[in-house]
Amino acid sequence: MSAVIIDGKAVAARVRADVARDVAEFRAATGLQPGLATVLVGDDPASAVYIGGKRKACVEAGMADLHQHLPADTAQDEVAALLDSLAADPAVSGILLQLPVPRGLDGSALVGRIPPGKDVDGLTTASVGLLSRGEPGLRPCTPSGILELLDAYEVTLEGASAVVVGRSELVGRPVAQLLVDRNATVTICHSRTRDLAAVCRGADVLVVAAGKQAIIGADAVKPGATVIDVGMHRTEAGLRGDVDFDAVREVAGKLTPVPGGVGPMTIAMLLRNTLLAARAAAGQGVNS
Ligand code: NAP
Repeated sequence: MSAVIIDGKAVAARVRADVARDVAEFRAATGLQPGLATVLVGDDPASAVYIGGKRKACVEAGMADLHQHLPADTAQDEVAALLDSLAADPAVSGILLQLPVPRGLDGSALVGRIPPGKDVDGLTTASVGLLSRGEPGLRPCTPSGILELLDAYEVTLEGASAVVVGRSELVGRPVAQLLVDRNATVTICHSRTRDLAAVCRGADVLVVAAGKQAIIGADAVKPGATVIDVGMHRTEAGLRGDVDFDAVREVAGKLTPVPGGVGPMTIAMLLRNTLLAARAAAGQGVNS
Protein backbone atom coordinates (compact mmCIF):
# COMPACT_ATOMS: atom_id res chain seq x y z
CA MET A 1 0.00 0.00 0.00
CA SER A 2 1.26 3.47 -0.82
CA ALA A 3 2.11 5.86 2.03
CA VAL A 4 -0.03 8.81 3.08
CA ILE A 5 1.82 11.86 1.78
CA ILE A 6 2.26 14.49 4.51
CA ASP A 7 1.18 17.85 3.11
CA GLY A 8 3.61 20.35 4.59
CA LYS A 9 2.22 23.19 2.50
CA ALA A 10 -1.25 22.72 4.01
CA VAL A 11 0.04 22.39 7.59
CA ALA A 12 2.28 25.45 7.15
CA ALA A 13 -0.64 27.46 5.73
CA ARG A 14 -2.72 26.55 8.77
CA VAL A 15 0.06 27.56 11.19
CA ARG A 16 0.50 30.86 9.33
CA ALA A 17 -3.23 31.58 9.40
CA ASP A 18 -3.33 30.80 13.15
CA VAL A 19 -0.36 33.13 13.75
CA ALA A 20 -1.99 35.93 11.71
CA ARG A 21 -5.20 35.60 13.72
CA ASP A 22 -3.29 35.57 17.02
CA VAL A 23 -1.18 38.58 15.95
CA ALA A 24 -4.39 40.52 15.23
CA GLU A 25 -5.74 39.59 18.68
CA PHE A 26 -2.44 40.53 20.34
CA ARG A 27 -2.39 43.91 18.62
CA ALA A 28 -5.98 44.63 19.59
CA ALA A 29 -5.38 43.62 23.21
CA THR A 30 -2.01 45.34 23.79
CA GLY A 31 -1.68 48.04 21.13
CA LEU A 32 1.71 46.47 20.33
CA GLN A 33 2.82 45.05 16.99
CA PRO A 34 5.25 42.09 16.98
CA GLY A 35 8.33 42.96 14.91
CA LEU A 36 10.92 40.75 13.24
CA ALA A 37 14.39 42.15 12.55
CA THR A 38 16.08 40.04 9.89
CA VAL A 39 19.73 40.99 9.50
CA LEU A 40 21.54 40.39 6.21
CA VAL A 41 25.23 41.17 5.88
CA GLY A 42 26.42 41.26 2.26
CA ASP A 43 24.68 40.36 -0.96
CA ASP A 44 24.72 36.57 -1.22
CA PRO A 45 21.89 35.87 -3.73
CA ALA A 46 20.60 32.72 -1.98
CA SER A 47 20.54 34.50 1.40
CA ALA A 48 18.71 37.44 -0.16
CA VAL A 49 16.02 35.04 -1.47
CA TYR A 50 15.63 33.34 1.95
CA ILE A 51 15.40 36.70 3.73
CA GLY A 52 12.90 37.99 1.17
CA GLY A 53 10.59 35.03 1.88
CA LYS A 54 10.80 35.60 5.64
CA ARG A 55 10.08 39.34 5.34
CA LYS A 56 7.08 38.78 3.08
CA ALA A 57 5.62 36.14 5.41
CA CYS A 58 6.16 38.42 8.40
CA VAL A 59 4.16 41.27 6.78
CA GLU A 60 1.42 38.84 5.69
CA ALA A 61 1.07 37.75 9.33
CA GLY A 62 0.54 41.37 10.44
CA MET A 63 3.98 41.80 12.00
CA ALA A 64 6.41 44.68 11.46
CA ASP A 65 9.24 44.02 9.01
CA LEU A 66 12.30 45.59 10.70
CA HIS A 67 14.86 44.28 8.20
CA GLN A 68 18.46 45.53 8.40
CA HIS A 69 20.95 45.23 5.55
CA LEU A 70 24.66 45.88 6.00
CA PRO A 71 27.36 45.87 3.31
CA ALA A 72 29.62 42.80 3.01
CA ASP A 73 32.67 44.73 4.27
CA THR A 74 31.05 45.73 7.58
CA ALA A 75 33.39 45.13 10.53
CA GLN A 76 32.58 42.60 13.26
CA ASP A 77 32.17 45.40 15.83
CA GLU A 78 29.65 47.23 13.67
CA VAL A 79 27.48 44.14 13.12
CA ALA A 80 27.72 43.43 16.86
CA ALA A 81 26.66 47.01 17.64
CA LEU A 82 23.63 46.69 15.36
CA LEU A 83 22.61 43.40 17.02
CA ASP A 84 23.03 45.02 20.46
CA SER A 85 20.81 47.94 19.47
CA LEU A 86 18.13 45.55 18.14
CA ALA A 87 18.41 43.55 21.38
CA ALA A 88 17.68 46.72 23.37
CA ASP A 89 14.87 47.99 21.10
CA PRO A 90 11.39 47.20 22.49
CA ALA A 91 9.88 47.38 18.97
CA VAL A 92 11.96 44.32 18.01
CA SER A 93 10.38 41.05 19.17
CA GLY A 94 12.71 38.72 17.28
CA ILE A 95 16.15 38.93 15.67
CA LEU A 96 17.35 36.63 12.92
CA LEU A 97 20.92 36.91 11.63
CA GLN A 98 21.02 35.26 8.20
CA LEU A 99 23.84 32.71 8.00
CA PRO A 100 26.40 32.26 6.64
CA VAL A 101 27.87 35.73 7.19
CA PRO A 102 30.63 36.95 4.81
CA ARG A 103 34.12 35.58 5.30
CA GLY A 104 36.06 37.50 7.92
CA LEU A 105 33.08 37.74 10.29
CA ASP A 106 32.61 35.35 13.22
CA GLY A 107 29.00 34.19 12.74
CA SER A 108 28.69 32.26 15.98
CA ALA A 109 30.03 35.17 18.06
CA LEU A 110 27.47 37.43 16.37
CA VAL A 111 24.60 34.98 16.92
CA GLY A 112 25.69 34.85 20.57
CA ARG A 113 24.76 38.52 21.00
CA ILE A 114 21.08 37.77 20.41
CA PRO A 115 19.31 37.50 23.78
CA PRO A 116 17.38 34.23 24.29
CA GLY A 117 14.04 36.08 24.48
CA LYS A 118 14.56 37.41 20.93
CA ASP A 119 16.30 34.34 19.50
CA VAL A 120 13.55 33.36 17.05
CA ASP A 121 15.92 30.96 15.23
CA GLY A 122 16.55 29.15 18.54
CA LEU A 123 20.22 28.65 17.72
CA THR A 124 22.09 30.55 20.41
CA THR A 125 23.94 28.60 23.09
CA ALA A 126 21.46 29.90 25.65
CA SER A 127 18.47 28.62 23.64
CA VAL A 128 20.16 25.26 23.05
CA GLY A 129 20.78 25.03 26.81
CA LEU A 130 17.12 25.74 27.59
CA LEU A 131 16.06 23.06 25.09
CA SER A 132 18.45 20.49 26.48
CA ARG A 133 17.21 21.16 30.02
CA GLY A 134 13.59 20.98 28.92
CA GLU A 135 13.04 24.57 30.07
CA PRO A 136 10.75 27.02 28.24
CA GLY A 137 12.44 28.83 25.40
CA LEU A 138 12.31 29.49 21.67
CA ARG A 139 12.94 26.28 19.71
CA PRO A 140 14.73 26.05 16.35
CA CYS A 141 12.30 26.40 13.45
CA THR A 142 12.91 23.34 11.26
CA PRO A 143 12.91 20.86 14.19
CA SER A 144 9.77 22.35 15.73
CA GLY A 145 8.18 22.32 12.26
CA ILE A 146 8.88 18.57 12.06
CA LEU A 147 7.09 18.03 15.39
CA GLU A 148 4.18 20.12 14.09
CA LEU A 149 3.89 17.85 11.03
CA LEU A 150 4.00 14.71 13.19
CA ASP A 151 1.26 16.11 15.41
CA ALA A 152 -0.86 17.23 12.45
CA TYR A 153 -0.83 13.64 11.16
CA GLU A 154 -1.42 12.21 14.66
CA VAL A 155 1.80 10.20 14.70
CA THR A 156 2.24 8.55 18.11
CA LEU A 157 5.55 9.60 19.67
CA GLU A 158 5.15 8.39 23.24
CA GLY A 159 6.97 5.08 23.52
CA ALA A 160 7.75 5.04 19.79
CA SER A 161 11.14 4.12 18.44
CA ALA A 162 12.52 7.19 16.64
CA VAL A 163 15.70 7.31 14.58
CA VAL A 164 17.26 10.63 13.54
CA VAL A 165 19.85 10.51 10.76
CA GLY A 166 22.17 13.48 11.28
CA ARG A 167 23.51 15.25 14.36
CA SER A 168 23.82 18.86 13.20
CA GLU A 169 23.18 21.81 15.51
CA LEU A 170 20.54 23.05 13.08
CA VAL A 171 18.41 19.91 12.68
CA GLY A 172 19.60 16.53 13.98
CA ARG A 173 20.41 17.32 17.61
CA PRO A 174 17.44 19.59 18.34
CA VAL A 175 14.91 17.32 16.65
CA ALA A 176 16.26 14.36 18.65
CA GLN A 177 15.86 16.39 21.83
CA LEU A 178 12.28 17.38 20.94
CA LEU A 179 11.44 13.72 20.25
CA VAL A 180 12.92 12.64 23.61
CA ASP A 181 10.87 15.35 25.31
CA ARG A 182 7.78 13.76 23.75
CA ASN A 183 8.79 10.40 25.25
CA ALA A 184 10.04 8.71 22.09
CA THR A 185 13.02 6.37 22.41
CA VAL A 186 15.56 8.08 20.20
CA THR A 187 18.62 6.83 18.33
CA ILE A 188 20.87 9.35 16.55
CA CYS A 189 22.81 8.19 13.48
CA HIS A 190 25.72 9.95 11.78
CA SER A 191 28.45 9.34 9.25
CA ARG A 192 30.19 6.75 11.46
CA THR A 193 27.05 4.70 12.14
CA ARG A 194 27.55 1.04 11.18
CA ASP A 195 24.81 -0.41 8.97
CA LEU A 196 22.62 2.67 8.75
CA ALA A 197 19.80 0.80 6.99
CA ALA A 198 19.57 -1.78 9.80
CA VAL A 199 19.34 0.92 12.49
CA CYS A 200 16.75 2.87 10.49
CA ARG A 201 14.65 -0.28 9.96
CA GLY A 202 13.97 -0.28 13.70
CA ALA A 203 12.26 3.11 13.55
CA ASP A 204 8.56 3.79 13.92
CA VAL A 205 9.47 7.41 13.17
CA LEU A 206 12.46 8.11 10.91
CA VAL A 207 13.75 11.68 10.52
CA VAL A 208 16.42 12.03 7.85
CA ALA A 209 18.68 15.11 7.87
CA ALA A 210 21.94 13.84 6.39
CA GLY A 211 22.29 16.16 3.42
CA LYS A 212 22.92 13.14 1.15
CA GLN A 213 20.50 12.66 -1.70
CA ALA A 214 18.48 9.41 -1.60
CA ILE A 215 20.58 7.94 1.23
CA ILE A 216 17.45 6.24 2.58
CA GLY A 217 15.92 3.56 0.37
CA ALA A 218 13.09 1.07 0.92
CA ASP A 219 15.50 -1.34 2.66
CA ALA A 220 15.98 1.21 5.49
CA VAL A 221 12.29 1.63 6.30
CA LYS A 222 10.06 -0.49 8.53
CA PRO A 223 6.71 -1.19 6.84
CA GLY A 224 4.20 1.39 8.05
CA ALA A 225 6.82 3.75 9.53
CA THR A 226 6.51 7.54 9.37
CA VAL A 227 9.39 9.05 7.37
CA ILE A 228 10.29 12.75 7.52
CA ASP A 229 12.71 13.88 4.82
CA VAL A 230 14.56 17.09 5.75
CA GLY A 231 17.09 16.94 2.90
CA MET A 232 17.10 19.54 0.13
CA HIS A 233 19.06 19.03 -3.06
CA ARG A 234 18.68 21.11 -6.20
CA THR A 235 18.93 18.73 -9.17
CA GLU A 236 18.19 19.04 -12.87
CA ALA A 237 14.94 17.18 -12.18
CA GLY A 238 13.98 19.68 -9.44
CA LEU A 239 14.26 19.69 -5.66
CA ARG A 240 14.97 16.26 -4.14
CA GLY A 241 15.44 14.94 -0.60
CA ASP A 242 17.55 12.51 1.40
CA VAL A 243 14.91 9.80 0.87
CA ASP A 244 14.31 7.80 -2.30
CA PHE A 245 10.69 8.96 -2.45
CA ASP A 246 9.33 6.58 -5.10
CA ALA A 247 10.78 3.48 -3.43
CA VAL A 248 10.01 4.48 0.16
CA ARG A 249 6.40 5.49 -0.49
CA GLU A 250 5.65 1.80 -1.20
CA VAL A 251 6.85 0.79 2.30
CA ALA A 252 6.25 3.75 4.64
CA GLY A 253 2.93 4.51 6.31
CA LYS A 254 3.38 8.29 6.10
CA LEU A 255 6.00 10.24 4.18
CA THR A 256 6.94 13.87 3.53
CA PRO A 257 7.58 14.87 -0.08
CA VAL A 258 10.39 17.16 -1.24
CA PRO A 259 9.39 19.84 -2.05
CA GLY A 260 6.22 20.47 -0.05
CA GLY A 261 7.05 18.62 3.17
CA VAL A 262 9.37 20.02 5.84
CA GLY A 263 10.48 23.05 3.77
CA PRO A 264 7.34 25.20 4.14
CA MET A 265 7.27 24.60 7.91
CA THR A 266 10.45 26.53 8.66
CA ILE A 267 9.08 30.02 7.91
CA ALA A 268 5.74 29.17 9.55
CA MET A 269 7.54 28.28 12.80
CA LEU A 270 9.69 31.44 12.57
CA LEU A 271 6.48 33.49 12.54
CA ARG A 272 5.12 31.56 15.49
CA ASN A 273 8.37 32.10 17.41
CA THR A 274 8.19 35.84 16.74
CA LEU A 275 4.67 35.97 18.13
CA LEU A 276 5.71 33.89 21.18
CA ALA A 277 8.63 36.27 21.77
CA ALA A 278 6.34 39.33 21.51
CA ARG A 279 3.88 37.77 23.94
CA ALA A 280 6.60 36.89 26.45
CA ALA A 281 8.03 40.44 26.22
CA ALA A 282 4.53 41.79 26.93
CA GLY A 283 4.30 39.57 30.00
CA GLN A 284 1.88 37.11 28.38
CA GLY A 285 3.39 33.87 29.59
CA VAL A 286 6.63 32.13 28.70
CA ASN A 287 7.66 31.21 25.20
CA SER A 288 7.92 27.52 24.38
P1 NAP B 1 24.85 18.99 8.07
O1 NAP B 1 25.20 20.06 9.04
O2 NAP B 1 25.70 18.75 6.86
O3 NAP B 1 24.74 17.61 8.89
C1 NAP B 1 24.56 16.39 8.23
C2 NAP B 1 24.56 15.27 9.24
O4 NAP B 1 24.32 14.06 8.54
C3 NAP B 1 25.88 15.12 10.00
O5 NAP B 1 25.64 14.89 11.36
C4 NAP B 1 26.52 13.92 9.34
O6 NAP B 1 27.29 13.10 10.21
C5 NAP B 1 25.30 13.11 8.90
N1 NAP B 1 25.63 12.26 7.77
C6 NAP B 1 26.28 12.62 6.63
N2 NAP B 1 26.45 11.54 5.84
C7 NAP B 1 25.90 10.50 6.48
C8 NAP B 1 25.79 9.12 6.19
N3 NAP B 1 26.26 8.61 5.06
N4 NAP B 1 25.17 8.33 7.09
C9 NAP B 1 24.67 8.83 8.23
N5 NAP B 1 24.76 10.14 8.57
C10 NAP B 1 25.37 10.95 7.71
O7 NAP B 1 23.37 19.19 7.49
P2 NAP B 1 22.06 19.90 8.13
O8 NAP B 1 22.27 21.36 8.23
O9 NAP B 1 21.58 19.14 9.31
O10 NAP B 1 21.05 19.66 6.91
C11 NAP B 1 20.72 18.35 6.47
C12 NAP B 1 19.88 18.44 5.21
O11 NAP B 1 18.66 19.12 5.54
C13 NAP B 1 20.50 19.25 4.08
O12 NAP B 1 20.13 18.65 2.85
C14 NAP B 1 19.87 20.62 4.22
O13 NAP B 1 19.83 21.30 2.97
C15 NAP B 1 18.51 20.24 4.69
N6 NAP B 1 17.83 21.29 5.47
C16 NAP B 1 16.53 21.55 5.14
C17 NAP B 1 15.83 22.48 5.87
C18 NAP B 1 14.40 22.75 5.51
O14 NAP B 1 13.83 23.77 5.88
N7 NAP B 1 13.75 21.82 4.79
C19 NAP B 1 16.41 23.17 6.94
C20 NAP B 1 17.73 22.85 7.28
C21 NAP B 1 18.42 21.90 6.53
P3 NAP B 1 28.66 13.61 10.93
O15 NAP B 1 28.20 14.47 12.06
O16 NAP B 1 29.31 12.36 11.37
O17 NAP B 1 29.41 14.37 9.88
